[in-house]
Amino acid sequence: MLKCTQAKRCGGCAYIDQGYEASLKAKNAYLQKLYKPLHIKIHPIICMEDPYHYRNKAIIAFNSQYQPGLYEESSHRIIPYTACLLHDEKIDEVIQTIGMIFKKYHVSLYDPRAHKGEIRHVVLRRGVVTHEIMVTLVSTSDVFKGAKNFAKELVKKNPEVKTIILNINKRRTPIVLGEKEKILYGKGYIVDELCGLSFKISSQSFYQINHDQCERLYQHALSSMSQHQIIVDTYCGIGTIGMIAAKKAKQVFGVELNGDAIQDAQINKAYNQIKNIRFFKDDATKWMQRMVAEDLKVDAIIMDPPRTGSTPEFIAAVKQMKPAEIIYISCNPETQVRDLKHFKNDYTCQEIYAFDMFPFTKHVESVVLLTHRKDKP
Ligand code: SAH
Repeated sequence: MLKCTQAKRCGGCAYIDQGYEASLKAKNAYLQKLYKPLHIKIHPIICMEDPYHYRNKAIIAFNSQYQPGLYEESSHRIIPYTACLLHDEKIDEVIQTIGMIFKKYHVSLYDPRAHKGEIRHVVLRRGVVTHEIMVTLVSTSDVFKGAKNFAKELVKKNPEVKTIILNINKRRTPIVLGEKEKILYGKGYIVDELCGLSFKISSQSFYQINHDQCERLYQHALSSMSQHQIIVDTYCGIGTIGMIAAKKAKQVFGVELNGDAIQDAQINKAYNQIKNIRFFKDDATKWMQRMVAEDLKVDAIIMDPPRTGSTPEFIAAVKQMKPAEIIYISCNPETQVRDLKHFKNDYTCQEIYAFDMFPFTKHVESVVLLTHRKDKP
């Protein structure tokens, strides 16, 4: 069992002191209690063989001595650290280099209390298969003085850094990223591989943070599904699961609200030469309602909403559409249980599988397959 050696803990890992076995036991007990009212089989959580260093993304801030730090949970306090047990180790290596370069050039750091200074955060993402790293500097300023030298030194020390982006966030807000961006180095994105396909990831787009568990989750979700003609992937992000599902279908439609993610999805479609998928930038509920009005015939729906879950209107539209199968993937079992109750009269659900996507934190990812009731017309 590894121990977090950081003097002051950030509070991100609820279970790091108890160890992995104890964390799984606690998560299983939580799932048993939560899904019990649904009277379905609750499988033990699918765990990781090596539960450390799984995070392919990190959001870092620097203190006035240029020490990299993590935010203490639910606060603005920066807890200095050198190595996090959850982060990809290469990410932590690169962040140390960035701290050194910032110090050397006396880079202006942002002070949230005074709303002064420039660099607010540094966001790092790593393609676990390709080893490509993206560095996003989040700044209050449109200009990063010395960008060329910074890029040169960083890439020299860490050649895995393939792109550096300046993200401009002038607002007084805890939201990390602003909307405007400039590419300081490279192409502005990295590529990673998931379930045999390649995906382009930009700084703004959603990408699962635990690569290996994500593959297992997708493989499980899609293997539980029958062969289908038309599949809709709702809340599709950069189109990962929809493109993997396209092998099983005649046609796939993907729907997503975030415009950057949709742009990535379009590029990913071309990149992987997938012809039978189309993406729509829209609110999932509104899109579904429109498709019901247009009488679109759908055989299966994949839904993977954010933590807030789906909406009653979305579920009503699904019920009108009557797909034979629904795969509901959730990063918040509480909203999943709430939503599943609305499907009860029209769909049967036999079992729930949970994946330990975020070891040592309180979070779990769950998947259920819903099948249309035979007795329902
Ligand atoms: N299925 C994807 C993404 C799941 S995360 C994957 O596995 O990678 C949830 C996604 O829902 C995010 O990409 C988010 O931008 C999107 N989203 C949030 N609210 C939405 C809405 N109202 N309509 C459509 N998409 C939404």
